[in-house]
Amino acid sequence: MGVCPSATMSLLRDNFTGALRPWSRPEVLTCTPWGAPIIWDGIFDPDVAKQEATQQNLTIGLTVFAVGRYLEKYLERFLETAEQHFMAGQSVVYYVFTERPGAVPRVALGPGRRLRVELVVREQRWQDVSMARMRTLHAALGGRLGREAHFVFCMDVDQHFSSTFGPEALAESVAQLHSWHYHWPRWLLPFERDAHSAAAMARGEGDFYYHAAVFGGSVAALRDLTAHCARGLAWDRARGLEARWHDESHLNKFFWLHKPAKVLSPEFCWSPDLGRRAEIRRPRLLWAPKEYRLLRD
Ligand code: UDP
Ligand code: MN
Repeated sequence: MGVCPSATMSLLRDNFTGALRPWSRPEVLTCTPWGAPIIWDGIFDPDVAKQEATQQNLTIGLTVFAVGRYLEKYLERFLETAEQHFMAGQSVVYYVFTERPGAVPRVALGPGRRLRVELVVREQRWQDVSMARMRTLHAALGGRLGREAHFVFCMDVDQHFSSTFGPEALAESVAQLHSWHYHWPRWLLPFERDAHSAAAMARGEGDFYYHAAVFGGSVAALRDLTAHCARGLAWDRARGLEARWHDESHLNKFFWLHKPAKVLSPEFCWSPDLGRRAEIRRPRLLWAPKEYRLLRD
């Protein structure tokens, strides 16, 4: 494992990783087979990453859906901790998608940071709320969000930031390793296996299992990703199918076909239920406990 031969190349390509030092984490995989860096704590210099982003005068979008009870339960903490840790010092535009704009908490925003609220219709089933995000994001990326942001991260709301999540995470397309599955053998990964689904992955297919709670990239790359997933979801629905993990299954299919330019280690989206692990030095986002009984009927 260890050194990523093209780490220097990807540094030149996306410019946000600072001076990558993949060899400083010999105990983890820091490079994908196709040469994309896997970002672990310690392999980048956060200050260099910050400077590089500042020089380019970027605007970074962060989208989050808060529909039904997820709004009261999670949104305020998500936004407050994002103000502390997400792309600190950069120009940021939050896009909150909800059916109740009036209920969005007023969070004090730092300089250069804006929040926009977008109205969505409330789907009845929680799975439909989750899946409808792809279509809604696709439209938003083709509208104002796409015009005002250079890069965008799309996140679940049921988590909060616990440490720096900065420009080292930026790239043309960014996928998040799922914290439950990053050390599982490939054949056990929970990809969609029904060959009739648009999200189907055959045995032997799949590089990693990615978590839909965090993905990102340039506006153009995310337009492609959301179009692919929305199309796959509609295709399945027309056939009476629903992939095992909903939009996440389609996201995994997309990243199998179109390899991400950067992969985030599970430190970027960690589940505290997994306890402490030596390789998880500094979790940047922490999942909230899954209180589904309170949230989903
Ligand atoms: N979501 C929402 N209201 C719902 C269901 C989902 O706002 O009723 C949004 C919210 O941003 C949530 C995301 O969709 O974080 C994905 O759903 P969830 O987190 O419940 O899925 P899981 O992470 O358990 O797969
Ligand atoms: Mn979630």
